[in-house]
Amino acid sequence: MNSVLDALSLTSGFQLPVTTTAAMSRADKTQTVPDTEPLQVIVIPHSHNDPGWKKTYREYFDDQTTHILSLMVKKLHEYPDMTFIWVESTFLDTWWLNQTLETRSRFKELVHSGRLEIASGMWVAPDEASPHYFALVDQMIEGHYWVKKNLGIVPESSLNYDQFGYSSTMPYLNKLAGIKHVLIKRINRWVKEKFGTQHRMNFRWRQIWDSQGLDDIFAHVCIFGRRISCCFEHAHGFNSIQNSRVETDS
Ligand SMILES: [Zn+2]
Repeated sequence: MNSVLDALSLTSGFQLPVTTTAAMSRADKTQTVPDTEPLQVIVIPHSHNDPGWKKTYREYFDDQTTHILSLMVKKLHEYPDMTFIWVESTFLDTWWLNQTLETRSRFKELVHSGRLEIASGMWVAPDEASPHYFALVDQMIEGHYWVKKNLGIVPESSLNYDQFGYSSTMPYLNKLAGIKHVLIKRINRWVKEKFGTQHRMNFRWRQIWDSQGLDDIFAHVCIFGRRISCCFEHAHGFNSIQNSRVETDS
């Protein structure tokens, strides 16, 4: 597979629902009984390294990020079945400067073999509710330029994991930048429950003006969240995970 996030495209083959931001806000609390098919669990290790929150950029890098990146290269080299997704280009830039040519070469090999995916590729993973679109485009150019120059690739998937509100502009900008899939997480809990019960966690995100779907982008809503942890174990009408319903492949 070309992209680690292509694993999420397992549903291609049946008609994906189309959803706009307005449709998300109309979802209500209706619940349906879940099916009893065995669960397929896909574990996707990925970065979520904020360059600023409770520490300075330098503290986040020195305390955690540099070790994550170095260990990732080491462990993926040791374990050929492991994969990883990295998002924030700014930390790649800082880390890259201190690496040997051999480590850089290993890193690039992992990228080009498909085991290490650079998702989003923006300078940072942005909030989408507050920034002006110009700021989003500006830092997307910065990040994509770094990725292209140093790794020779253009990101194909976007992983916007921890935004405090999503903008319908972002998938449009992503589409223009060559992104083919987007993964989001922090949508309204009732919308997420509604999507879960209707099997709409995969959908084509359509712009409000785009009657023909020319700018549709494949979107996946990550099932985890702070208030709705995991639909399979959620108290509102979902069954708990049981061994008899889980197939393993390792
Ligand atoms: Zn965060």
